[in-house]
Amino acid sequence: MILSTHFIVGAAVAGTTSNEALLLVLPLVSHFILDSFPHWEYIDEIKELKHKPWHLFFDIVAGPAITLITLLLLNDFSVAKIAWVIIGGIIGILPDGLVFLGYLFFPKNKIFQKYESFHRFIHSKKKLAWEVGATQQIVIFILAIFLLASGFNLQK
Ligand SMILES: [Zn+2]
Repeated sequence: MILSTHFIVGAAVAGTTSNEALLLVLPLVSHFILDSFPHWEYIDEIKELKHKPWHLFFDIVAGPAITLITLLLLNDFSVAKIAWVIIGGIIGILPDGLVFLGYLFFPKNKIFQKYESFHRFIHSKKKLAWEVGATQQIVIFILAIFLLASGFNLQK
């Protein structure tokens, strides 16, 4: 899935807990669950990213921006709460970040190669047409915003 979807879902699931271990685990699990469903992405292979720097830029910025806007609109926020869900969002995109890191800096590293094949193994092989896939991610996005807004209020 695209990074902004992973970010907002990671942030939303992090917001449902105040347990540090779950803050780490829930966004990671959410990432692999989302990737395992057939979905759409704006690239097929990681090397295409260099031809789509603006896609990547907006994809990276949109998740944190929409998360922050949602929290500010809730009008019940503290730096600690915001930091908590932002960390959840970052952990939510970490599995793709590691693939990118390995591709850029450690292409021959065995651990990164193993990790990359693990990520590819979990990742659905079926790609949706962009109209279907984009709709799917918008729906996930909206659900995540609702979860973020409700789960967030459970916290102290
Ligand atoms: Zn992924």
